[in-house]
Amino acid sequence: MTLSFKNRLALLYLAATGALVGLLLASIFLLVQHRVFADIDGLLMYEAIKHTTEVGPTGADGGIAFLNKAEMTEREHREADANPVFIQVVSLNGTVTDRSPNLKEGYLALVTAQEISKPHNATLGGQRIRQVQVPVTFGGREAGYIITAVSSENAERLVAALRMYLLIVLPLVLAVLFVLTRFLAGRGIQPVTDIIAKANNITSHNINERIPLPAQQDELHDLANAINSLLSRVHEGIAREKQFTADAAHELRTPLAVLKGTFEVLLRRPREAEEYAAKIQEGIGEIDRLTTITEQLLAIARMEHSSHGKTAPASSDLVAVARDIVGRFEPSAAQKEIRLHFHHCDTLPLNANAEMLEMVIENLLSNAIKYAGHGATVTVAVGREDGSPFLRVQDTGIGIAPADFDKIFDPFYRVKANSAKGAGLGLSIVKKACQTLGANLFIVSELGEGTTITVSFSPSQEHYGQS
Ligand code: ADP
Repeated sequence: MTLSFKNRLALLYLAATGALVGLLLASIFLLVQHRVFADIDGLLMYEAIKHTTEVGPTGADGGIAFLNKAEMTEREHREADANPVFIQVVSLNGTVTDRSPNLKEGYLALVTAQEISKPHNATLGGQRIRQVQVPVTFGGREAGYIITAVSSENAERLVAALRMYLLIVLPLVLAVLFVLTRFLAGRGIQPVTDIIAKANNITSHNINERIPLPAQQDELHDLANAINSLLSRVHEGIAREKQFTADAAHELRTPLAVLKGTFEVLLRRPREAEEYAAKIQEGIGEIDRLTTITEQLLAIARMEHSSHGKTAPASSDLVAVARDIVGRFEPSAAQKEIRLHFHHCDTLPLNANAEMLEMVIENLLSNAIKYAGHGATVTVAVGREDGSPFLRVQDTGIGIAPADFDKIFDPFYRVKANSAKGAGLGLSIVKKACQTLGANLFIVSELGEGTTITVSFSPSQEHYGQS
């Protein structure tokens, strides 16, 4: 059985207060018990010592007895009360020489040497008494004992009643405390219960709703705030996903619609072989576009996957990877009469996934060539700057307006004015790949002047073992 938080809180409080109340009641009991018996013992000692002055030697046998028994009897008669003091005079050899008349047939028991002058419990004719035995000395020599006693039954009854009362009171107090603390705990966690109820009601359909913030600036306020921030982040994520899916569908639909239109036009009437060839060529162009978008979407999906788990540790030479890609782009650069330069150090081994590096360089270089006009210059540089490995792609192309700097890394975002072909996925792939690689991206660009994009790796990513 699992206890609710409210009951756990109440039980914790109960355990603490219960222990305190128990301690308090136990100390009250011990104090009263001590007080009651201390009073009795005080009276017994007082009476015993008082009577030691009222006894004297009886004669040759060395015994002792009351000097004035008649006065003793009269006083006892005078002071008769509900709890009379019993007095007994005993000689050293244990012979009882005198007794107060209230003892009637009874005798007070003699005690061993260790218990002399120590008040203790005893019985007298079946009745429980408390008694003390003090020595009587004459001329520096012990001559006998005075034993005083008093019934302890009333005191014991009082102590027993108190014990019984406290044993009943303690569970009662605990029960009342439990009910009370459970009620208070319930009221205390009510705001939490409200937050839970509200959070449970928020689904993907009403994710724009938020938990009302408690008026007081306390932990509950922080909790509600934290849940609201989490909801906002989830909401933004869902909106991004929706936008991405809608944009992807749109980008895939366009080439498909063009293909369909081309085929429908071709079907309307028979055409010349050259016209068929031209239209098929157009269709292949659209299929290429579809293939590129699908590959880019797959690349994004793969990176999403690898950014949730860590990519396998890998080592690649940044110079070799860049050289390979620059080589691949040489023909398309030559076609546009673009001067393609490659500046690099000898080797730059990095703890980085080669596939990710390829995606970054490929997309940056493809953009640089795409957005650089005829006769422009594109430079790829690989090296170290302030100890950090870097890769830089620079072009003297159309440039990007500062207002677009942030947006160009969003999926499917394309600068309106540009007429080049593309789906707007290249730079978002670069951004995601850099995130996965743990590299930083910097962009410097001026409209009509050109663009420089730098990828900076952390110095710790350099793999010195291989250089
Ligand atoms: P795409 O090139 O397919 O449009 P990208 O995500 O690679 O998509 O780029 C987004 C936008 O950023 C491009 O549409 C383009 O306007 C701009 N851009 C990217 N690289 C450059 C560059 N080197 N020079 C000028 N504009 C660029």
